[in-house]
Amino acid sequence: ATPVSILVGTGRGAELGLLFRRGDALQRLSEVSIVGFDKTGTLTQGAPALTDLHPLAELSEDEILALAAGAESRSEHPLARAILGAAEARGIAHAPVKRVKALSGKGLRAQVEAGKLWIGNAGAMAEAGADIAPFRAQAEALAAKGRTPVWMALEDRVVALMALSDPIKPEARAAVAALHRAGVEVAMVTGDTRATAQAVADELGIDRVEAEVLPEGKRDAVETLRKSGAVAFVGDGINDAPALAAADVGLAIGTGTDVAIEAAEVVLMRGDPTGVAQALGLSRAVMRNIK
Ligand code: ADP
Ligand code: MG
Repeated sequence: ATPVSILVGTGRGAELGLLFRRGDALQRLSEVSIVGFDKTGTLTQGAPALTDLHPLAELSEDEILALAAGAESRSEHPLARAILGAAEARGIAHAPVKRVKALSGKGLRAQVEAGKLWIGNAGAMAEAGADIAPFRAQAEALAAKGRTPVWMALEDRVVALMALSDPIKPEARAAVAALHRAGVEVAMVTGDTRATAQAVADELGIDRVEAEVLPEGKRDAVETLRKSGAVAFVGDGINDAPALAAADVGLAIGTGTDVAIEAAEVVLMRGDPTGVAQALGLSRAVMRNIK
């Protein structure tokens, strides 16, 4: 690659809001045959809202929200913010909680007056020893709509099933279609529930889904994709950094966390996933001129 054509390519990229932090990313991007996307905050807006609240035992809706908000007030997770927002909208005071502990990739555990409180996905319920089998069909129906089921247990009893919905970015479908036109396979890698991830993937026309991936597993998911060709990974979160580093090319959403931006070679300044296909097109054009 001649320095001049790289310079022209990165300059053209800047006009499109594509920041190439390294010149050699242009060459490696031109060779990519699979693009893996993080879901939350990358394909979706990363601002979920509470859509469903089903009491499954003796607790009322307000009691459930009071407990959930108390515990989630100690969490930085986007789902936590959604639950706090719902409690605030209903004017519900937080229940007192102690010893909140994050369960990586699953949810959290806390101590409340009535005992141990568990909030999160099926994995969190497994840690609680709570049996979700009687309510699984209910959760699957929510997940089939692309919503994330969030369970709550007191000690080892399931007391609530909630669902949170994170709107898909308006450009996400076009972003996937443009990559398909470029002959590239598209995958999603997410910590979210499998059925939820699959529903979102179906809506976007995504080919492959790696769901229920624990934070430390995102790198392995990228390595798996690499068996089929050179991989670009697109993400926004702290937990995407290892996958961004492991991919042949890492692309960070410019509105994402600094940690993701530092780990990436390309930054999509506009936060718009269609930038991936634009960057790919640019890289191929530059490499064609060089050859
Ligand atoms: P992602 O951000 O891709 O969903 P995470 O690893 O952060 O991945 O979380 C995986 C899953 O664990 C979430 O989809 C959710 O079901 C559950 N979870 C994590 N943190 C919380 C939390 N604070 N409250 C409720 N559920 C949570
Ligand atoms: Mg994300």
